Amino acid sequence: MSDSANFKLFIDGAWRSGGAGADLPVINPATEKEFGRVAVASASDLYDCLRSAQTSLVLWANTPAEERGALLVRAARILKGKMEVAAAALSREQGKTLIEARGEYARAVEMIEWNGAQAASLSAPWTIDPKRTIVPEAVGVVAAFTPWNYPAVLNARKLAASIAAGCPVILKAAEETPSAGAHIIEALQEAGIPPGVVSLVFGDPPMISEYLLGSSVVRALSFTGSTPVGKQLAKIAANNLQRCVLELGGHSPVVVFEDADLTKSASAISDYKFECAGQSCNAPSRILVARSIYKEFLGRLVQAVEKIRVGAPDDPSTDMGPMANARRIEAMERLTKDAVDRGAKVETGGKRIDRPGYYWPPTILSNVPHGSQVLREEPFGPILTVGPFNTIEDAIEEANATEYGLASYFFTESPELQKRMIRELSAGAISLNHLKGVSADAPNAGIKQSGYGYEGGVEGVRAFQNLKLVNGARRWLSPEDPE
Ligand code: NAD
Repeated sequence: MSDSANFKLFIDGAWRSGGAGADLPVINPATEKEFGRVAVASASDLYDCLRSAQTSLVLWANTPAEERGALLVRAARILKGKMEVAAAALSREQGKTLIEARGEYARAVEMIEWNGAQAASLSAPWTIDPKRTIVPEAVGVVAAFTPWNYPAVLNARKLAASIAAGCPVILKAAEETPSAGAHIIEALQEAGIPPGVVSLVFGDPPMISEYLLGSSVVRALSFTGSTPVGKQLAKIAANNLQRCVLELGGHSPVVVFEDADLTKSASAISDYKFECAGQSCNAPSRILVARSIYKEFLGRLVQAVEKIRVGAPDDPSTDMGPMANARRIEAMERLTKDAVDRGAKVETGGKRIDRPGYYWPPTILSNVPHGSQVLREEPFGPILTVGPFNTIEDAIEEANATEYGLASYFFTESPELQKRMIRELSAGAISLNHLKGVSADAPNAGIKQSGYGYEGGVEGVRAFQNLKLVNGARRWLSPEDPE
């Protein structure tokens, strides 16, 4: 078993040290101090993963879907029982507050439960007409790669959908946040998952992805992370024609129209944006405000944002903890400097907080010139840009003016405008008059450079199934149908 400071690999139903010898440090972002080590997988560990996953495929794919579902529901219950310990570990390695970490685990439990509850119905054959039946079957072994921002939710979602579909899954979780994968796998182990159905590895990300995707044993890739890495993995997966689910970056706009409730919209944006220190793929990053209300709205937004208390993640009075790693602080410094050098104004924040830990304050930049890096590159941190627009057409053009298409938000009471915005915003998810993220029961996917393939909902399980068309199907396949 992994302990709370030494994270091992889980291969063929057992915890083991990494064959690569060296392990990696795990850092607490609130102190910048190392508190643990994570194992590094060797090629021989990965070979063992593939072999045990391949061996377990026939058994798992042929296990009645009701049993697979029941196992997931049991695992969800076990994970719920470990929630306090798991949330404290997540907060220590990721930097999010304890409250946020508990909330994330509650969503992770919900994702596992939901997939468990759907497993049977999503594995059942259905008829198109009396002579033709569709039989869903497991696509095969899944290789899943998850990042460090929401490791409990993202690991839970990929593992649960694969398991529900009947697929063994090899998870490469983020080395910076290893405890979430370990806690979820422990819950699955206690619930009785057979050896080989789930594996957990850490190590050198490019080496691991190249090794796993280089094998034709792997039939599907599920990756959440940046667009450049997603593209690299899709290219490797093309060699073996592995199916891809890619949940990549975002640069989401919020359009605030003249008739919006200013206080409500300003506080909704401020509350949602700075969760997890702004390190969410669907966090808003560009606020576009009707010129007639721009000044007043900006004032209310600054007021709401300045109420956010930044501090240690385990302090109950903290609203926002540190960023997850030093790379994000460097990115915040670079994006802010570039915008300011081009003429942007810092309305609040804008400078690293002078204390140990990767602390960056909630930051609002106004008058940000076109061409600034922060308008093109996903900020992935607590920086918001705010600017006025003149016409609805300008707002739509500006909202759609990035290569990303993950989420878009807008505030207006006008039904006509609501219909138009839903039609014209290029994004996989749209929220009106509030901001909301992913849920277990709804499909979620980006468009444009934000990726493709669905996670969540029925589509998230179907992503790991082949739908076999059987012509001339008889009663034994679909007993409810007349011959
Ligand atoms: P990154 O793109 O190098 O890494 C993101 C994640 O992908 C990490 O967990 C990493 O271990 C993994 N990864 C990297 N290279 C890989 C490879 N070749 N094979 C398999 N996995 C690989 O960047 P980063 O510095 O860790 O994060 C910063 C950027 O990542 C942000 O700018 C943001 O765009 C993106 N990101 C997106 C999400 C998301 O939810 N969509 C989550 C985290 C990070």
